[in-house]
This record gives sequence, C-alpha cells and structure tokens, in this order.
Amino acid sequence: MVIMMSNIMDGKALSLKIKEELKNEIEKNNLTPSLNVIQIGDNKASEVYIRNKKKACMDVGINFDLIKFSDTISEDVVINEIKRLNDDINVNGILVQLPLPDGFNTSKIINSITPLKDVDGLTYVNVGNLVLEQECLVSCTPLGVITMLEYYNVDLKGKNVCIVGRSNLVGKPLIQLFLQKDATVSVCHSKSYDIKEYTKKADILVVAVGHPNLITKDMVKEDAIVVDVGINKEGNSLLGDVCFDEVSKKASLITPVPGGIGPMTVVSLLKNIVKAYKLQR
Ligand code: NAP
Repeated sequence: MVIMMSNIMDGKALSLKIKEELKNEIEKNNLTPSLNVIQIGDNKASEVYIRNKKKACMDVGINFDLIKFSDTISEDVVINEIKRLNDDINVNGILVQLPLPDGFNTSKIINSITPLKDVDGLTYVNVGNLVLEQECLVSCTPLGVITMLEYYNVDLKGKNVCIVGRSNLVGKPLIQLFLQKDATVSVCHSKSYDIKEYTKKADILVVAVGHPNLITKDMVKEDAIVVDVGINKEGNSLLGDVCFDEVSKKASLITPVPGGIGPMTVVSLLKNIVKAYKLQR
C-alpha cells in the first residue's frame, strides 16, 4: 500500500525499492545476469549515462562491461562485435549508447542486436511484438512511466491519456502500453495545432518533448495526474517540460525533475536485463 504524504510521485524512492527487490532476487536465486554496453565516440552526456548504468548494475549484482570504440571505427567492426556478443551465452543484455556520432546507421546497428538481448527494447522485433501484445523487452523510459503509475495505484482503464511527444524512444511505445491498459490515448507533437485543446482534457498527461516549462497550469485539468519525462539542462540545474511550481498546485499527482522518471528509467533497464536473462533460459 502507498501512503501518500504529498502529491509527488517519488521516482528516486520507488527506484531504490525496486533495486532492493532485484538485488534480493538475484542473490536468493544465484542469478548471474550481465550487461554489455557499446559506446562509440566520447559524447560527454553519454559518459554520465553509462556511469549511472554501471553503478546501478553493480548495486544489484548485475555484471557490467563497457566496449568503447573511437568514432573512426567502421560500422562493420561494431556489427561484428555485436554478433559476437549475440553468440556469447554469458552476455544477457546488449545496449548501444545513443546518440551515435554522425555517419553511423543507428537503425542498422541497433537491429543487429538479437531481440532477446535488446534490453533497450528498440529493435524492430521488440517494437513489433509490443504493438501485437507479444512477450518482448520494452523501451526503458515508457516502462518506467507505467511502473510508476501502477505503484501509485493510478487506474488507467477508460481514462483520457494525453502524450505530448511521439519519439520512437518514449512517446510511441507509451501509446501501446496505455492502450494495453485500456486507456483512451491522444498524442500531440510539434505539428499539432493547439496542444492545450488535448492536454486540458487529459486525466493523465505525459510530457516528453525536451522544452523546459512547455506545460503551464492553464493547460492542465484540475486534479490531473502529470508525468514529466523531459530533462532540460539550464546552467547547473535540470528542468522538466512541465512548469512544476504552478502545475503541482493543480495536479493530484505529479513527478518531479530530477527524481521522477529519470531513476525509473535506469531501474527499468535493470528489470529488463533480469527479464532477458530469464527469457534466455
Ligand atoms: P525527441 O526524440 O526529440 O522527441 C521530441 C518529441 O516532442 C517529438 O515527437 C516532437 O514532435 C515533439 N515536440 C517538439 N516540440 C514540440 C512542441 N512545441 N509541442 C509539442 N510537441 C513537440 O525526444 P525524446 O527522446 O522523446 O525525449 C524527450 C525529452 O525526454 C527530452 O527532454 C529527453 O531528455 C527526455 N528523456 C528523458 C528520459 C528519462 O530517463 N527521464 C529518457 C528519455 C528522454 P515531432 O515528432 O513532430 O518532431
């Protein structure tokens, strides 16, 4: 049971709880899951994300390996390395850190990962299986959003859900996950004429755009549930896509940035690695 002290959906606390559960499961059952991350080039943000993933894996007992290539490497070498990892029974998860440097065919590289080890849920097979409601590995951020809403006992059946943002990584998989929960889904994007017309009607509003403070209180229904996926760096601080100070006074539940969907994304990756490990057996 969740005891609510405020209207904040606390991703940091929930992710710690899930990590503890995963750690216990791994220890108790002597599981030996492993993740291999492939990095190409030296994008500074990627370095931070990889460091966070490594720490999270080590915290719960998942073996972590990083294979780093310079941005002058040929695509064939990268794909051959992925094929080697596909065939290695000691490797359970393969993740190519995005974005790739210019000149690399992201889709070709991602789709060379065998779907059972695609812990980011980005291969054509996993995306297709998600749409067709088959067993699959689901993209980590959308999975984190649904896990968060379920933990806070948000009933999605028949609810009006508005998703702002339709990226392959976040918005599109979320459409499927919400449909599977019997929600009624509308999706806004950069070509939508008037997003307020849709956001105002939403019982549950999810925003994944990358524009700080895009969503203001006049765009949100009274008592709506608001999930802010956006991460925008402004100076030394991180801002979401939702104007938190004003929208939090109107929402019945809301995620903060930082401490909301960010930690839920990392923990969803850990869940996917353990799921992949089990599926491979
Ligand atoms: P993306 O690939 O750039 O997609 C952004 C989406 O927003 C696109 O669908 C775009 O529309 C839409 N959009 C842009 N301007 C808009 C506007 N003014 N009104 C309505 N829609 C608009 O970004 P992403 O990868 O989905 O990431 C979105 C945000 O989430 C970023 O801030 C990112 O850092 C953050 N993020 C956070 C996590 C996490 O762990 N918390 C994980 C992933 C991403 P079009 O399709 O028409 O271009």
